[in-house]
This record gives sequence, C-alpha cells and structure tokens, in this order.
Amino acid sequence: MGVFGLKTAVVGGGVTGLAAAFFLAQQPEMEVTVFESDSRMGGKVQAEELGDLSVEMGPDSFVTRSAAIFEIISEIGLGDLLIHPKANRALILRGGSLRTLPQGLNLGFPTNSAQILKSEVLTPLEKLSTYLRWRLQRDADFAKSSDDIGRILQYYVGRPYVRYVLDPLIGGINAASVYGASGEITASQILRLLRGEPQVTTTTDHTQMPPFASFEGGLSVLIGHMQEYLKGRGVALRTNSVVSDLKLTSNGVMLETDLDVEEFDKVILTTPPSVTGILLRDISPETAQILRSIRRASVTMSTLLVDADLTHIPSDVAGVLVPRDQGFLTTAITLGPNKWPEWRSNAGQILRISSGRFGEGEHLKIRPDELVSLLIGEAQEILGTHIGLLDYRVKRWVGSFVRFAPYHRQLMNKVEKTLAADSKGAIELSGSFVRGSGIPTCIQVAKEVAARTQSSRL
Ligand SMILES: Cc1cc2nc3c(=O)[nH]c(=O)nc-3n(C[C@H](O)[C@H](O)[C@H](O)COP(=O)(O)OP(=O)(O)OC[C@H]3O[C@@H](n4cnc5c(N)ncnc54)[C@H](O)[C@@H]3O)c2cc1C
Repeated sequence: MGVFGLKTAVVGGGVTGLAAAFFLAQQPEMEVTVFESDSRMGGKVQAEELGDLSVEMGPDSFVTRSAAIFEIISEIGLGDLLIHPKANRALILRGGSLRTLPQGLNLGFPTNSAQILKSEVLTPLEKLSTYLRWRLQRDADFAKSSDDIGRILQYYVGRPYVRYVLDPLIGGINAASVYGASGEITASQILRLLRGEPQVTTTTDHTQMPPFASFEGGLSVLIGHMQEYLKGRGVALRTNSVVSDLKLTSNGVMLETDLDVEEFDKVILTTPPSVTGILLRDISPETAQILRSIRRASVTMSTLLVDADLTHIPSDVAGVLVPRDQGFLTTAITLGPNKWPEWRSNAGQILRISSGRFGEGEHLKIRPDELVSLLIGEAQEILGTHIGLLDYRVKRWVGSFVRFAPYHRQLMNKVEKTLAADSKGAIELSGSFVRGSGIPTCIQVAKEVAARTQSSRL
C-alpha cells in the first residue's frame, strides 16, 4: 500500500487513461499516477492551430447515448460548454454525383420501406431487390448465427445497400469494411434489432440531447479540464514518461520507465494493443500474443484551410462519404463550417479530408504536400467547386484503428480472465481495443476497470 492508500499506476494519458484516473480519484484513499510517453496528455484527442482557428486533428465529437462521460462532464462542470453539430446529415458519392440519404435510418439501416424505395443512392433495380430482401428476410436466426456484420447485413438488405450506404457509414467510422467486422462492437444497435433483442437504453437526462456533442473550443477542451481536475485531486500526471517494462512482485507490480523504477499495488494499461502486448510479454505471454495479433488500420487526416464557395451544398449536410469503389483516395470529407460554425473565420473555412482504410496503405506513401494537392483535386471533383488552398495540416494516424474481427468481445473476455489469473489481479486492461473505439465506450470501460481496481483493495 502507498502512503495514502492503494497505489495505482495508469499507463497512457489518452482519454481512457485520464478517465481511469478520474474514476480512481473519486476515492480519497487512492494514490494515482498517470504515465504518458508523449510531451502532452490526450493521446488521439488533440488540436492544432490552422490560420486563426483551433481545429481537432483526431476525434471532433462523441455520441451522447452513454452515461459515464456525462459523470465526468458534470463533476468537472463542463455542461455549459457542451455544443452540438449544426449539421448531422451525410451525402454519399456515387457515379460522380452526391446523393441524399433518407431521414430516420438506424445507423444507415432502413427502418421503413419508404427509406429504401425513395433512396437516391440505389438504382431502380437495386431498390427493388433491397426492398424484397428487407420485406422477406425477417427471421432473426441468421443474425444470431454470426458476428460478421457485413455478411449479416448483406443477408437482410443485399449487397448494393451494404456497399453504398452501410459500408461507407459503419465501415467509415471504423476505417474498415463491414465485411469481416464484429457486429457486436461496430453496429450493436442494428445487430440487436435484427436478432430481436431489446435495445440498450439509458435513462439519464442527456438522452434528450442531440446524438453528438463536443465543447466550445473543441473536444480537446475536455482533456485540458480533466488534467486540471486530476491535479486538484492529487493525481500525479507524468508526461515524457515511457513505460518500458513491468514485473510482478510479491506486493504488486514493478513499473520501469526510461527514468525510474517504482512499485505499484495496481497497474491499469491503456496503451495501444501492440504496446500493451510488449509490456505483458513476460507476465502473461498468452495475453501478449493475442494483443499483438490484433490488426489495425491507418488513416491520414488532412485538415485544410480553404477559400471555397460551398453554398450549393445544403447547410444541414455535415459531410460526404465516398464508397470504396468510386476510385478516390478520399474516404470522407467533413464540411467544417456546416458542422461546426467555429471552423470558419475571416481567413477561410475548414475542410477535413480522411483517407485510408484497413488494408489500404497508399495514403501513407505520399508526401504530405503531394497528398494535399491530390486530395484538393479530388475534393473539387466530389464537391463540384473550385477550392483555393490557404494552409493545411496532415496528421498520420498510423495503426490507430483496431480491426474488430468477429467475436472480438469474446476474445477480450478471455484476455481479461487470462491476465487476471497471470497477474494475480494486479494488472487491468482498458483502451479503445477492448470494447470499441468511441470515446464514450473507452470512458465506460475505464470506469469499470477503475471500479474493479478499487474494490480489490477491500
Ligand atoms: C482520426 C480519428 C478520428 C476519430 N474520431 C472519433 C470521433 O469522432 N468520436 C469518437 O468517439 N472517437 C473517435 N476516434 C476514436 C477515439 O479518438 C479513440 O478511440 C480514443 O481517443 C482512444 O483513446 P485512448 O486513451 O484509449 O488511446 P490513445 O489516445 O491512443 O492514448 C494512449 C496513450 O498511451 C500513450 N503511450 C503509448 N505507449 C506508451 C508507453 N509505453 N508508456 C506511456 N504511455 C504510452 C500514447 O502516447 C497515448 O497518449 C477517432 C480516432 C481517430 C484516430
């Protein structure tokens, strides 16, 4: 035990690590240290200056249907800073033109026949075949027989609807095809619907909110406020501290950084799966081997400050999704000022262009300046307007998106059990690879892990 109680190290200072520290710090008798290898906390949540604007380089919003993140928002007092995207609609590019998706879809999945029959995205023949499948394939057994969401969706609505609606939407969020992706992780609400299972509902006030949110000043505001709060609760935040090794001791875990060696009662790892695998190679070889085998996708986020007339695109359109067979490197374009009015100034407006999916690494081989001029050309073609480039930032997110293969959840259950046995309960895992990459899910998992850590001292 530390001087003040259970001495716990959190490895990784991304949103998961800070959330784990937040929930641990709710107990007065916890001595918590966060180790972050980078010079700043926040991990993938980070903003940069572009012109006179501050723009998020990674996530720019979170879904509001999960409770744990609101515990943090309310405890830190960030409720007044909450903002919501001004536009939520996406257009789909097909055959050189931008097509509207019908309203009221469930993560892209049709909830009534009109959504299929009036769809602008499908050809008349595709509409008919999609409609017939949707009407006739009503049995829940197929959805229960697999966790491959691409296969399941194709069974219920057919390949064209998957290719031109569901893959750009669901696959786009995860930077990978829906084929070979876990439905339980990437599209659980559709899977439950198809399996005839009840939807998970939350009953707190925030469910009245629009589905997405951020903060005035950007999502990174959350990181700054969490750090201040944690310092106030006595949590030690150590940047530039690379954790390089862990060893079990009779009392806990010896944690080695490039500067120091220190013993802790408990360790919570929130590092990416490859790093976590290396740190656990001696303590839990089976866990390490599974984590190192998790495949990941890389994405390049090109954030452009531009001079462009986009008034021909309706103001409630937040962006454009580009299906994989359309011949573009671009996978999605966010129309900055439509989504976040803050992303416009006298200097210009922001376009965020994503490129890269699981198995597609071409975007990583192109020099940033060449990539930007290529993407500008594509954006002009996609959006049908001249775009004048004023400034840009290119952020490579190498290996940042976990490929959630079917039955990933069951694999993680096994990993958690194996690690608990091998580490005698001294080490816990958290992070975007455990149950899903959305920030609210990361925070929910961090909360559960913190609760297990606290309860083990009783
Ligand atoms: C481009 C992009 C867009 C996204 N958009 C959204 C979105 O709109 N909404 C949403 O909800 N989610 C989004 N996500 C997903 C979300 O950002 C991530 O899942 C989440 O931020 C992961 O947080 P984390 O703390 O688990 O991991 P990370 O942020 O990766 O943090 C892990 C930390 O561990 C540190 N670390 C690594 N090795 C060591 C070591 N040896 N010792 C100490 N520290 C170490 C790293 O430096 C890092 O800071 C997006 C992700 C990306 C890349």
